[in-house]
Amino acid sequence: MATYAEYIAQLQNGTKKVYSLEGEVPVRDALDIRRAYIEAETACSLVHVGAYTIPVDEVALKNCENMIGTIQVPLGVAGPLVVNGEYAEGSFWLPLATTEGALVASVNRGCSAITKAGGADVRIFADAMTRAPVFSTHSISHAKEVYDWILNHKQEVADVAESTTRFGKLQGIHVVTVGTSVYARFSFFTGDAMGMNMATIASEKACELISKETGAKLVSLSGNFCTDKKPAAVTSIMGRGKTVSAGVHLKHADIESIFKTNAVSLLDVHIRKNFAGSARAHSLGFNAHAANIVCAMFIALGQDPAHVVEGSLCITTIEPTDDGVYAAVTLPALPVGTIGGGTRVATQQDCLSLLGVNGEGDVPGAHAKKLAEIIAAGVLAGELSLLGAQAAQHLARAHQTLGR
Ligand code: NAP
Repeated sequence: MATYAEYIAQLQNGTKKVYSLEGEVPVRDALDIRRAYIEAETACSLVHVGAYTIPVDEVALKNCENMIGTIQVPLGVAGPLVVNGEYAEGSFWLPLATTEGALVASVNRGCSAITKAGGADVRIFADAMTRAPVFSTHSISHAKEVYDWILNHKQEVADVAESTTRFGKLQGIHVVTVGTSVYARFSFFTGDAMGMNMATIASEKACELISKETGAKLVSLSGNFCTDKKPAAVTSIMGRGKTVSAGVHLKHADIESIFKTNAVSLLDVHIRKNFAGSARAHSLGFNAHAANIVCAMFIALGQDPAHVVEGSLCITTIEPTDDGVYAAVTLPALPVGTIGGGTRVATQQDCLSLLGVNGEGDVPGAHAKKLAEIIAAGVLAGELSLLGAQAAQHLARAHQTLGR
C-alpha cells in the first residue's frame, strides 16, 4: 500500500478519484485518506468528524458513499414509559438524539404522566410500505386498458413481485390515472424491514410484467403517488409504513400536578391550535410537534430521517371525560424497521437493543411493529407535554431555562 501522502497527492493531481479508495485500501484507511485530502483542500480541521468508534467496513459500503467520518448527535433518554401495545408491552427508556434543548425534558414529563396513568394504549391499524411507479400510455383508452389489466391480474403481479424477496408480500394495488399516465400504488408487507428498497426491487419486477402484457411504458419506478418523503394527502388518508394510534386517559389531579394546568385549558389550546390553527393553515398535520419526537427517535434508532415528513402527518385528539381527558395521537404513516438501512450502524443498534428490537423479530415484522408502538407512545408523551406547557403558558420559560 502506498503512503497516505502518496494517495493524497494522487487525489490532488486527479489520477485517483475520491470514490475509488475503498477498492484499493482497507475501509478505515480509505476514510482517513479521504478526510485528510478534504482537510488539505479546504484548510479545515475535521478532527471531531474523524474521532469515532463505530465499525465502518459495512457502513461505508452500504450506507454512505465517500465517507470521511461521523457526526455525533447528543443522545438523551426519556422515561420510563409504560406501553400497553400488542407488540410492545412493558416499561421503556426512549432514546432521543437531538440538539434541541428542552425536548428530552419535555418528553420525559409526558412519559411521567402516561406511566402514572397506567401506560399508553397502543394499536397498529395497518402495515404496508408503498411504491407507485408511473407508466405512459398512448391514449385515454389505452390508459383504461392498462388500468383494467392491473386490477384484473393482481395475483400474477403479486407472484412476480414476491419472487424477489423472502419477506415481502404484495397486499394491494391502488391504480389511478392522469390523462395518459397510469400510477400503480403497490402496498407491501415488509417484515422487520422499513421496506423501501424491498418494495422498489419487487415493484420493478411487477412493472416488467405490466409493460410486457399491456404495452404501457414504465417512465419511473417512483411516480410520486407513493408518496415517499413529501407531505401528501394520499399518505395521510391511505397510510404508509405503520398506521398506529396511542392513547391515554388522564385524570384531573394528574393534569394539575404534572402539567400545572387543567383539562379546560388543555382542551382550549388543543382545539384552537391543533385543529383550528392547523385547518386555517391548511396543514397536513394536526399536532403540536410530533415531528420532534419522530425525528429524535429516528436518528437514535437508525431510521430514515427523511421519513420524518410522513411522521409529521400525525393527528392529535383530546376529548373531555367525566374525570379528565382522553388524549391520543394517530400516526397514519410511520415507516420504521429494525433490519437493513441505518439499523446496521453500531450506535443505532445500541439504541434498538435498549428497546429490545435489534434485528429480526421471532415472527417477521414483530420487532418493527414493537418499535412503531413505542415511537407512537413517545409521540403521545411529547404532544401532552407541549400542549400542557402551552396551556400553562410555560413554553417560553422552559426554552429559556433549558434551551439557551
Ligand atoms: P434493505 O436493507 O434494503 O432490505 C432488507 C433486507 O433484509 C432484505 O434483503 C431482506 O430479505 C432482509 N431481511 C432479513 N430478515 C428480514 C426480516 N425479518 N424482515 C424483513 N427483511 C428481512 O432495507 P429496506 O427496509 O428494504 O430499505 C431501507 C433502505 O432504503 C434505507 O437505507 C433507506 O434509506 C432506503 N431507501 C430506499 C429508497 C428506494 O427507493 N430504494 C427510498 C427511500 C429510502 P429479502 O432480500 O428476502 O427481502
